[in-house]
Amino acid sequence: MADYDVIVVGAGIAGSVCANYLAREGKRTLLLEQNHQAGGNMSGFTRRGFTFDAGDQSFESLGIVFPILEDLGVYDQQDWIKCRYRMVSEDFDFFIDSIDAVEDALRTAFPREPGFGQLFAEIREVSRFLDRVYTPRSFPLLHDFHPARAARAILPWLPRLKRWSTFRYREKACSLIQDKRLRHWLTNIGYYRMPYLFFAGFWHLWSSDYWYPAGGMQAFHNRLVDAYTGSGGEVRFNTRVARIRDSASREVVVTTAEGMEISASKVIYAGDYRALVDSIIGPEQFGAPLVGRLRDTRLTEGLVSVYLGLDMDDEELSRILGGAHHPFYFPNYEVIFPDENSPEAVHRDMWVALNHFGPRSVSAPPGKSTLTVQTYSSWSWQKYWRNGGDSFPRTQEYRELKERVGYELVGTAEQLVPGLRNRIEFMDVGSPLSLKRFTLNSEGSSGGWCYDDQVSPVFRFPGLNRIRTPLRNVYACGHYALWPGGVISAVQCGRIVANLASGKKILAPLGS
Ligand SMILES: Cc1cc2nc3c(=O)[nH]c(=O)nc-3n(C[C@H](O)[C@H](O)[C@H](O)COP(=O)(O)OP(=O)(O)OC[C@H]3O[C@@H](n4cnc5c(N)ncnc54)[C@H](O)[C@@H]3O)c2cc1C
Repeated sequence: MADYDVIVVGAGIAGSVCANYLAREGKRTLLLEQNHQAGGNMSGFTRRGFTFDAGDQSFESLGIVFPILEDLGVYDQQDWIKCRYRMVSEDFDFFIDSIDAVEDALRTAFPREPGFGQLFAEIREVSRFLDRVYTPRSFPLLHDFHPARAARAILPWLPRLKRWSTFRYREKACSLIQDKRLRHWLTNIGYYRMPYLFFAGFWHLWSSDYWYPAGGMQAFHNRLVDAYTGSGGEVRFNTRVARIRDSASREVVVTTAEGMEISASKVIYAGDYRALVDSIIGPEQFGAPLVGRLRDTRLTEGLVSVYLGLDMDDEELSRILGGAHHPFYFPNYEVIFPDENSPEAVHRDMWVALNHFGPRSVSAPPGKSTLTVQTYSSWSWQKYWRNGGDSFPRTQEYRELKERVGYELVGTAEQLVPGLRNRIEFMDVGSPLSLKRFTLNSEGSSGGWCYDDQVSPVFRFPGLNRIRTPLRNVYACGHYALWPGGVISAVQCGRIVANLASGKKILAPLGS
């Protein structure tokens, strides 16, 4: 008999959600995580009394995340802060409280621009679509799936959805804007070549459906793991899985980096997909064409994060930020995606997002506060940040470069928080190499595969998922397995894969 019914590899949100469902079904479940804690891209850390959210700072529910957390009994244990976004440049300063507010602010900033009317009419159309199919607490089409009802709701939108799901259409829609700088900005902000649906949908989500778990991401993830162990599941941290293989007895055998073998009837792998193909299952099992395509597939951007412990209390910082949880500052209308060829000063000219959630956020010593400043970056930039590769120990040049980039971002953030550098009591900088180190995600990718269906040919509609693997009882799960990556797809994928592994319908109603 196998050691476990199911082994889940990776305690990011996908693995934790999946393991929760399986343990609740009474399956003997083992969750293995290479880090010392759960969370993956959403984990946190504490230094000198300041607690930070290391990667993801908040997320959407889209009527998927909250109902699933509710189903797992975790939603109500948690206080949720509805996030407010603010966008600032030399021309505008507005809150994304509604699509009307965004249009008004841009019309005021660019009074001679004729293209707004048509562009925003269609952005409102996307918003209407999203309003029809979900609320933050309910996406009935996914949670209680009836083909006829789903067809009735989606069919009228299908032609538009087909158009909206491409980046090409975004270019076309934004070409209505005459001001070159603004057109470029609207066409390109967000992840690289994000399709029109995501571009338009984000204005909707930023105004109505972005959430932060009060107390911080790590505390939220610890709750998810507690719910799992409370259902009888077992978890082992600091345990990296190196191999997954079939055995003659039809059990699946997982080998850890230390060489320990553990068997299970089924294995769910919720970590980096490239590692799954390259070494954990092995390229020979996947076949050369897929392996080739996967190697060429672009990943979503890695980020650089500057973690600041400030000699300034939460109230003062919140006041300075105007009460926004996510103010963005754009020093120009360039949209830069750094790569290995980008110049040394590339981050100096980039947009920054400031993240601060007020007194109900992660903790800081009395009278102090935390602020995280982020922008996109690249793993391979400047020869892997002057580290020459992923190796340890990191070079002195790497540390110096990280600190320099950190101060460049602080310099840009000072447009919103004047004198910020003089209030810093603690500072650390996370590069895409750090993201890779703590999550094992290739290149420090933040959200799985690139969002553009043309650039990511394997994930074109309708072949959106890579849940099944060449091994019969091994499933992939998480932000690489269900496109497009992000918290919503990771959570939804956790539930789908748990259903598959338990022999249920993929979209079995919640609570069943
Ligand atoms: C800075 C940043 C901002 C983001 N912003 C947003 C946002 O606004 N909205 C949104 O929806 N998404 C956002 N994301 C993306 C989102 O956080 C991720 O898509 C999501 O958390 C992925 O969850 P996951 O469980 O699939 O993978 P991960 O979080 O990567 O978890 C995988 C886990 O598996 C473990 N693991 C990997 N390999 C092994 C192994 N061999 N053995 C054992 N354990 C292993 C890792 O340590 C990790 O804990 C952001 C991400 C970042 C970094």
